Amino acid sequence: MDFRTKLAKRITSLPPYLFARIDEKKREALSRGVDLINLGIGDPDSPTLEPIVLSGQTALSKPEHHQYPSYEGMLSFRKAVADWYLRRFSVTLDPSTEVVGLIGSKEGIGHLPLAFVEPGDAVLIPEPGYPVYHAGTLFAGGESYFMPILESNGFLPDLDRIPESVLKRAKILFINYPNNPTGATATDDFFRRVIEFATRWGIIVAHDAAYSEIYYDGKAPRSFLSYPGAKEIGIEFHSLSKTYNMTGWRVGFAVGNPQVLSGLLKVKSNMDSGIFQALQEASITALTLPEPMLDNLRALYQKRRDVLVPGLNSVGLRAFSPGASFYLWAGLPKGITSEQATLALLDKTGIVATPGNGFGPSGEGYVRFALTVGTDRLSEAIGRIRTHRLFEV
Ligand SMILES: *Cc1c(COP(=O)(O)O)cnc(C)c1O
Repeated sequence: MDFRTKLAKRITSLPPYLFARIDEKKREALSRGVDLINLGIGDPDSPTLEPIVLSGQTALSKPEHHQYPSYEGMLSFRKAVADWYLRRFSVTLDPSTEVVGLIGSKEGIGHLPLAFVEPGDAVLIPEPGYPVYHAGTLFAGGESYFMPILESNGFLPDLDRIPESVLKRAKILFINYPNNPTGATATDDFFRRVIEFATRWGIIVAHDAAYSEIYYDGKAPRSFLSYPGAKEIGIEFHSLSKTYNMTGWRVGFAVGNPQVLSGLLKVKSNMDSGIFQALQEASITALTLPEPMLDNLRALYQKRRDVLVPGLNSVGLRAFSPGASFYLWAGLPKGITSEQATLALLDKTGIVATPGNGFGPSGEGYVRFALTVGTDRLSEAIGRIRTHRLFEV
C-alpha cells in the first residue's frame, strides 16, 4: 500500500519560501565564522519587560490557572484590554462581546477567513505584506486579490482600482498600519475612505495593528476603531509581541464588531482552547504598565532609526524613515534586484536583510531592515556597506 503523504493543494499552492536561500546562505556564513549583523527578522532583541515576567511567574504557580481556559479569554483580561483601549485610543469596547483573546495575533488573522470565506469568495490583501493574510485565505478555499501598496501612493492601497467583479465577491479587506514591511502609517483620510468603501460593499475590514505602539517622534497612531462607523464593519488585531518584547509568549487579541468576533470564536473554539491563564495574568500586567516604560523602548528604537536611515541614505540606498514599526524599507538603485542586494549584503558584508519581493511582487527593488540590533552594530553595518561600495552605481 502507498503511504499517502502527497501534500494537499492548499499546502503546495502556498508561495515558495523565498527566504530559504537567504537562510541557507546565512548558515553557510555562520559556519565560515562570519560576524553576522542580523537585520532580517522582526523579533525584538530585548527581553520581556521585567514586571510582566514576575507577574507570569507568580501566576504560573496558581493551580486555578492550570486547567482549560475559556475560549474567549478571562473576563479580567478582556476588561484590561477594554481599559487599555479607552486610555490609549479613547475607544469604548464591551469586554463581554467586543474583545477576544488570541494565541498571538497571527492565530486570529490566519483563522478569520475560515469563519467567513467560501470557495469563490475573494479576500483583499495588501502586497507587499504580511504572508498570513494570503495563507489564511488559501486555507479557507478563498481567492486572494492582491492590492499593490506603492511608494507613489504613500504605501496605501488604491481601493478605486479593485474591479467591481472582485468587490461583489469580496468578504474581507485586510489592512495593516503601521505597516510591515514598509513602516508606513495610514492617514485619517485613508481610514475614513476604507470605512465608506467597506460599508458600501458590505465587506469586513480586518485591521492589523501589531505595531501601533512602536511609534516615533511622540506621534501615536490612532486606532482604526476610533473613526466613526468602523465598529459597524470591522475588527482590529493587536499583539503583545512587539509592544512588550513578548514574541515567544503568544498573546494577542481582536476587538471590534461583535458579529465578526463571534464568527472568529466559532473557528477558534473548534481549533484551540484559549490562552494559558498564567499568560493572561501576565498580559494584564503588561497592559497596565506605566506608559514611561514603553517610552524607553520607543526611544531605543528611535535612536537606532536615526542612525540607520541617514546611514543607508549615505551609501546609495533610499531608506524611508518609518513613522512607526521597527522596520526600514529601502529602495535599491536601478538595476539591482532585491535578491541580488540581499545576497551581496550577506556575502560581502555579513549583513542579513530581507528581500522586498519576499513580501510580494511590488516589493521588488526594495530591501527591509529590522531595527533589532544596537546602534554600534548599525554603524558597523553602514561602515561595511561603504567599504564594499555595494550600492554605488
Ligand atoms: C509580528 C506580526 C504579527 C503577529 O504577531 P503575533 O506574535 O502573532 O501576535 C501580525 N501582523 C504583523 C504585520 C506582524 O508583523
